Amino acid sequence: PASQTAPAADAQRSRMSVSKSEVAIEIAGMHKWYADFHVLRDINLKVMKGERIVIAGPSGSGKSTLIRCINRLEEHQKGTIVVDGIELTSDIKRIDEVRREVGMVFQHFNLFPHLTILQNLTLAPIWVRGIPKAEAEETAMKYLTRVKIPEQAAKFPGQLSGGQQQRVAIARSLCMNPKIMLFDEPTSALDPEMIKEVLEVMVDLAEDGMTMICVTHEMGFARQVANRVIFMDQGQIIEQNEPEAFFSNPQHERTKLFLSQIL
Ligand code: ADP
Ligand code: MG
Repeated sequence: PASQTAPAADAQRSRMSVSKSEVAIEIAGMHKWYADFHVLRDINLKVMKGERIVIAGPSGSGKSTLIRCINRLEEHQKGTIVVDGIELTSDIKRIDEVRREVGMVFQHFNLFPHLTILQNLTLAPIWVRGIPKAEAEETAMKYLTRVKIPEQAAKFPGQLSGGQQQRVAIARSLCMNPKIMLFDEPTSALDPEMIKEVLEVMVDLAEDGMTMICVTHEMGFARQVANRVIFMDQGQIIEQNEPEAFFSNPQHERTKLFLSQIL
């Protein structure tokens, strides 16, 4: 099956351009500890603009911690993280600058339950960015249309399916006009029939040239859009390769074991 899907996936990926010179994210010699626990070890990762990276690995391997470090939801203790030319240090101004560029979508949607869908999408643009309400609402409707649920604008999150809520969460991120999108297992809390509709939105974003880092075990998605799959175990990147090679010819025993469990 791998060889059958390869040509189509290759053709699709080649339509999505990656910058050869512009770096979106560069992580070098990065370590992180949670108190005494050495959770990330010597992480080195360079992501070019327009690149789409999938991160896979067993539970507890540090995937969430790594992407949370990229927008400073977690702090690293050693090495450097540079996002769109801005180094992440304790300087709060720089952290704010980076967070403007980086959108994040979580496993559990994190929508405000007491606000309508439209209010969820316009809250930050209005109150953080100072965008006039009418303009923020226009942008929100544009992105709700893009994720194919404009008719849900007046409802509350609890009235939507999980797949719809996750598409709202993606639209909410897009309203802030990010240059980079981080996804942390965006489909793993969804029922199988809803996974596809969320992945379709992510594929659409990829085709539009968004720089993306996605923690996911959706290997069909990885094959279709990823330039690189990164495999983490015990806080380290132990292997990375373009998708077909990663799946058909994994190098490390731990990667082989992992793939045998999920495929
Ligand atoms: P993954 O996303 O790959 O499942 P995580 O990054 O969530 O892995 O977690 C990596 C390791 O760090 C796990 O052992 C987890 O228990 C631990 N960990 C995660 N968050 C914290 C925290 N806030 N404090 C202490 N340990 C944590
Ligand atoms: Mg995680």
